Amino acid sequence: DIPVITIDGPTASGKGTLTDEVAKALGYHVLDSGALYRVTGLAASRAGIDLDDGEAVAALVPTLELRFQDGQALLDGEDVSADLRLEATGLMASQVGAHPAVRRALHQLQLDFRQLPGLVADGRDMGTAIFPAAPLKVFLTASAATRAERRHKQLISKGLSANIEGLRADLEARDARDKGRSASPLQAAADAIELDNSAQTIEQSRDLVLSWWRDRRPF
Ligand code: C5P
Repeated sequence: DIPVITIDGPTASGKGTLTDEVAKALGYHVLDSGALYRVTGLAASRAGIDLDDGEAVAALVPTLELRFQDGQALLDGEDVSADLRLEATGLMASQVGAHPAVRRALHQLQLDFRQLPGLVADGRDMGTAIFPAAPLKVFLTASAATRAERRHKQLISKGLSANIEGLRADLEARDARDKGRSASPLQAAADAIELDNSAQTIEQSRDLVLSWWRDRRPF
């Protein structure tokens, strides 16, 4: 049995960083499920498909030539990593992720990331829908102010300008959509441990998750 740790939570809660750190410490693989929704949204929009047409977007998924290597995302051989990180792409991801048909189309692809020696899966429904039997589920949160600040710092460090109020409005709008949808809404699994990392360093959050894992890992 391949061990899985799920880390779900809202936009910019630090899931990606925590997932990478926990995976690195354990030597596990990583599933960035948001990237799959982002690629799907981007590819559909490039193909001129109406993002509100769930069946049409879902039909595109099996045709995607997708590879993740060395921190890059390749779509049909093209490095789309920078495009994937844009907030506009996050919104497209949220739009296509609202369709049950799209979520079904991406389901098996996500299960396939489960490989030895283990997996840390980052997303919105990893603990509720994709890996419901995972022995450790974390629901990561941080205040909206903290999340907007972190996103702001991240953009500034890349030499991009950004307005903190606008960023906060964007992430709150995306969270509202992710929570309000009927297909796999953003919510903590009943057996998830909630972790508010607003006042924590990444090392503190990582060590906490690793200590939970030592108590719960199934072997
Ligand atoms: O995590 P990230 O910001 O990359 O996710 C982008 C969007 O993709 C989310 O706002 C959400 O709507 C969607 N998503 C999802 N289910 C996941 C991961 C992401 O619906 N497991």
